[in-house]
Amino acid sequence: MTEKLSTEFDFSYLDRNYAEIKERIAAAAAASGRQPEEIKLMAVTKTVAPPPINHMISLGVDLIGENKVQELLSKTDFLNTDGLQMHIIGHLQSNKVRKIIGIVSMIESVDSVELAREISKRSILAGTTTDILLEVNIGREEAKTGFDYDEALERASEISELENVRIRGFMAVPPICEGDEVRKYFAKMNTLYMDSKSKLGNGSLIDTLSLGMSADFEDAIKEGSTLVRVGSALFGARCY
Ligand SMILES: *Cc1c(COP(=O)(O)O)cnc(C)c1O
Repeated sequence: MTEKLSTEFDFSYLDRNYAEIKERIAAAAAASGRQPEEIKLMAVTKTVAPPPINHMISLGVDLIGENKVQELLSKTDFLNTDGLQMHIIGHLQSNKVRKIIGIVSMIESVDSVELAREISKRSILAGTTTDILLEVNIGREEAKTGFDYDEALERASEISELENVRIRGFMAVPPICEGDEVRKYFAKMNTLYMDSKSKLGNGSLIDTLSLGMSADFEDAIKEGSTLVRVGSALFGARCY
């Protein structure tokens, strides 16, 4: 008897992880009186190779997030991009903006007015409109970029005047916390999100509050997150 050499990867761990995350999202939504459809799941794919990403896509993932432009562009040719949306979620240098306009459907990590201006300029040149979130440095951490919480609304209203960029909401990565301490940061972000809905006019469509990662997405959902960015809980621990 000859044994068949298999070249297929065993991705059954991805099936289990995906099912578990979907269940946990549904449970956290139910616990806070929300519908699971109100919460979008993003698979964060940094350091993950195309085959497992494609497997996640086959399971139903239709949104991925990458931190780096170069890494994203190196993968797109190998991904099943039909119906797939891609977001940039890491600090973006102005000189890289032109490479991703029209490729990503949203830039979640807009952390300066200058960057928003560049996105506007490049979107006009490309004849498109780019959706953005403003990133807020909610814990005022030195190592993180993002708008100051107290200034975010004012900057948002400035940015909302720019052509061919559309503010959809806010994103934040809170400091590492003990227990459910993190909820107070998420709650503050939700207050900003709700304020911006009533205060930002002209053409902005505020519908996205991007909060929560592998370690804290359930707390984020309980505080109103509409988009959770999950990496390691889906793909396993990252090795760099
Ligand atoms: C890496 C990353 C994530 C995902 O982190 P996990 O802890 O692996 O879920 C989410 N958001 C941002 C901005 C990230 O850089």
